[in-house]
Amino acid sequence: MRLAVVAHSDGRAALPMLRTADGQWRRARSGEGVAEALLRLLAEATGTTTRGSFTIRSWTHRIAVGERSIGVDQTNESVIVGDAAVVKWATHLQDGPHPAPRRIAVLRDAGFGGIPQPWGLVTWRQPDGAETLVASVDQYLPGAVDGWTWAVQLITDAARDRRPGPAIDAARDVAALVAELHAALASTATVATMSDAQRWRDAALNTLESVCSLEDSHAVRVARARRGEVAKVLDRLGELGGSPVIEGHGDLHVGQILRADGRFVVTDFDGNPVLQARERILPIPAALDVAGMVQSLSHAAVVARKYTALDPQALAEVDTQVRAAFLDAYTARIGQLGHAGLYDPDAVAPFRTQQVLREIIYAASHLPRWMYVPDAALPALLGEGIPT
Ligand code: ADP
Ligand code: MG
Repeated sequence: MRLAVVAHSDGRAALPMLRTADGQWRRARSGEGVAEALLRLLAEATGTTTRGSFTIRSWTHRIAVGERSIGVDQTNESVIVGDAAVVKWATHLQDGPHPAPRRIAVLRDAGFGGIPQPWGLVTWRQPDGAETLVASVDQYLPGAVDGWTWAVQLITDAARDRRPGPAIDAARDVAALVAELHAALASTATVATMSDAQRWRDAALNTLESVCSLEDSHAVRVARARRGEVAKVLDRLGELGGSPVIEGHGDLHVGQILRADGRFVVTDFDGNPVLQARERILPIPAALDVAGMVQSLSHAAVVARKYTALDPQALAEVDTQVRAAFLDAYTARIGQLGHAGLYDPDAVAPFRTQQVLREIIYAASHLPRWMYVPDAALPALLGEGIPT
């Protein structure tokens, strides 16, 4: 068995491979034992080992048997082993450095308990020297659902029953988790340069320009009609030079927060897929992660309304309460942890705005059926109310 890096016409892939009876290598499928073999390798190789261009980091002595696939997405193929671990093969390698290895190592060293326990990582050194992630192994959490399930459900229930308590409690728990994540990453803190701030501002304004040139949708029309006002909000990113940045999550939204057994954990440290690899690893203001979460809570409310007939007034109240609870609890917890200085609440609005604009572009280019979300979210964010 092997883990092989293979060149495809559309880039490189890290693939689990098996040798056939006639000596040829072919791609292994889930159930053929290559994920189990990786677990055995990790169990034997605790610490860091290098084999050729591969580096193996292991934090476990455990093994598990019995493979089942939990699906394939655009970048990964995940295999659950023995209901104990999940092995993620990077079936489409990112060119350039990868954010996850360092963030996960820092979180582990800080004793952060808010991620599925990491068992190990395999990285591969590219010909240009950059290290990218080819496989990761984490503790498997049976029954875990992400926020596009749990948050949508809690918001739906809250608006329907006019009982916001459980949704607010969840928002507070997740806020504390995010604050604890940031505190655990505080050792990576540096200070943003003027050129970092310029880059954020220019990227956001470019995103606005791209949105305005898209084909019509409600959100695109709103962006065009209120372009000056939106640009003014985004422009504030240019003032963040000199403020603290950390090697934060970088792609935080409710879909990255799993709930299992009533407990929340944060996953997916692959960075923001809309950025180039070299930018994906750069430090970010903590407010970017906060904005990502807050805006996705708004999006979850839009999703809730699509699937259940809900009183718009009741839903708007829940949406507002949940976001306020998240922000209050985050601010309180990051303060308690002694890291209030990492968080600039004034940066949340521009980053939220950028997030909705990115969703418009994402929907237009990859997922048109998602457009109803930014169609409702952009006017809501600009204080116009949700269009019906
Ligand atoms: P990607 O977004 O690249 O597909 P994620 O790491 O975000 O990968 O995981 C995708 C989904 O797989 C999650 O939404 C969750 O449902 C499931 N999942 C991921 N990690 C675990 C885990 N440790 N335990 C249980 N389920 C998981
Ligand atoms: Mg994900």
